[in-house]
Amino acid sequence: MYAMTSIKESIQFFHNTLPENVRLIAVSKTHPEDLIREAIAAGQTDFGENKMQEMTAKNRALTGSGVRWHCIGHLQTNKVKDIAPFVHMIHSVDSFRLMQEIERQAVRCGRIIPCLLQVHIAMEETKFGFSEEELTAMLEREDWAGLQHLRICGLMGIATTGASVPQLRDEFGRLRQMQQFLKTRWFTDREDFKELSMGMSEDWETAVEEGSTMVRIGSLIFGRRNYAVNA
Ligand SMILES: *Cc1c(COP(=O)(O)O)cnc(C)c1O
Repeated sequence: MYAMTSIKESIQFFHNTLPENVRLIAVSKTHPEDLIREAIAAGQTDFGENKMQEMTAKNRALTGSGVRWHCIGHLQTNKVKDIAPFVHMIHSVDSFRLMQEIERQAVRCGRIIPCLLQVHIAMEETKFGFSEEELTAMLEREDWAGLQHLRICGLMGIATTGASVPQLRDEFGRLRQMQQFLKTRWFTDREDFKELSMGMSEDWETAVEEGSTMVRIGSLIFGRRNYAVNA
């Protein structure tokens, strides 16, 4: 990949390189507000965070900046109420119970919250998300259509770390096929069921080739994360 010399240059690189239908989510987790301001100055509006406390604090610090916050990390039900007032999209919905809580908090805020269903596509055991079987079973069984303040807009997936390009193609391709299947089965009349959140710093090019509409890029924009300091 390219030596990115500044946040501004890397943001501009992605804005100039990504196809028009692919949105850049700048993953700012662990990085301070100053760096987010730099990215905003370079024209970036969508940011991803995986810790809800951190996202809430940054949202407060950046009030009025027009940032759209994307929740990309595992979301505990007891944290939903903190982010429900402002979160732009939740990418990491992985249970019906969580959907019910998002509905409850969205009602309280008088909002409709756009969500993606996270599907487990990687070989690693540790990644969160529905398996394909669990997802179809949930959609079959539960009254998710009754949750009218939660808008299911597509799927999100995380590929296997360090996978070869053919394997990445297979994993991302499966997510795309899953999205197309759900579209014909449950979301036929839903124009906004169209998002595929897939691709990170290591694998975004393959994800875009396989139909991604949202890439979640951290390190290539902000540099390495220092978990020792920020965890
Ligand atoms: C951290 C994270 C990213 C960004 O990772 P990079 O490899 O730094 O681009 C993307 N998606 C999720 C879910 C993450 O947790």
